[in-house]
Amino acid sequence: MELAKLKEYAQSNEPIKGSLEGPIEGIETAGLGLMYPIHYEASVYSVDNIWTLILTINFKYKTTCSRCLKEIEEPVESQVDFLVTETAEGAQFYEENSEEEVLVWEARESFLRELVMSVVVTSIPMQALCKEDCKGLCPTCGKDLNTGDCDCETSDIDPRFSALQGLFDEE
Ligand SMILES: [Zn+2]
Ligand SMILES: [Zn+2]
Repeated sequence: MELAKLKEYAQSNEPIKGSLEGPIEGIETAGLGLMYPIHYEASVYSVDNIWTLILTINFKYKTTCSRCLKEIEEPVESQVDFLVTETAEGAQFYEENSEEEVLVWEARESFLRELVMSVVVTSIPMQALCKEDCKGLCPTCGKDLNTGDCDCETSDIDPRFSALQGLFDEE
């Protein structure tokens, strides 16, 4: 049975360490800006015959700051616990607190790599900032406000100025 291999790992008490050096077949990663290698570490343990696999991943990806559009490289570190159940089809992996089956072991060599990549894909945040307090671009002139204020910024939001402008309009 496929779980036998898992149990071997569990008994060894050694985490399984490895890295992905490139994209893997069957999981779409185009456009995610993934940087390789992607490092992972998996530990397996069992309590009362309930098997858990803890997967930690570590990688960087290229993206643009969602405020100033600067190109940045963002680090991601993520840990996911999987519950493992044995069925006729093989060992099935469920993300903890989720009913959704993630992957069936099927005694494939590539199993762990696929599990790692599926976690990588779901770990990338929707948005990234070059820094916490990025000031972004001026909506009027497009200047990167991290490099200093522009001339249009204050005048656009200065209420006194708009009042004056109203006066001129009436003339
Ligand atoms: Zn930024
Ligand atoms: Zn401006």
